[in-house]
Amino acid sequence: MKIGGLLKFSMIDFPGYISAIVFTQGCNIRCKYCHNPELLSVNSDTNYSEEEILFYLEKRKKCLEGLVITGGEPTLQADLKDFIIKVKAMGYKIKLDTNGTNPQVVKDLIDNNLVDFIAMDIKAPFEKYFQVCGPVDTEKVKESMSLIINSKIPYQFRTTYYKEVLNDADIEAIKAMCPDVSKFKLQECLPVTEIKPTLKLEHAI
Ligand code: SF4
Repeated sequence: MKIGGLLKFSMIDFPGYISAIVFTQGCNIRCKYCHNPELLSVNSDTNYSEEEILFYLEKRKKCLEGLVITGGEPTLQADLKDFIIKVKAMGYKIKLDTNGTNPQVVKDLIDNNLVDFIAMDIKAPFEKYFQVCGPVDTEKVKESMSLIINSKIPYQFRTTYYKEVLNDADIEAIKAMCPDVSKFKLQECLPVTEIKPTLKLEHAI
């Protein structure tokens, strides 16, 4: 696993569970509002080894309940499944954050009961995806949506309200794609310059 960041403790990122968050290195799309530019390149140096993360989780398993795996885009990691198996063996619940571009990975994790919650971004109505994040195979995004909706796993779809491209009608159109609107979350798009990079602040395990 290429891991660019660790947040050691969160009460708000995994519904129902006190969790840690790992940020995987590398993303296959380029959202114009991305707040984690340090994580975009798959070739960047990583800040943590998998062993460091597993060591931390082993030490904290009495006070942490879950691990959020976010990015970057976690489904790009060739050894994601093996990593999750190791973390679940410690008793942790797993939340996966994904942009939905790798449905085959999402399906494999669902089929093998390796995820307990999935949060997937819907960047825009499909005809506007390119304007928000460049070239994306939206058929794969649709496939991931369908897999998640038809799984028995708790999930959330979420959209960042990027007002340079999206408008209220677009948000309504995205909601209309969600069979259960209570599982849709609209996120504020914060100015990138106001976001402080936190990814390297937590290195002292
Ligand atoms: S999917 Fe996430 S990490 Fe990738 S560019 Fe978009 S906001 Fe950034």
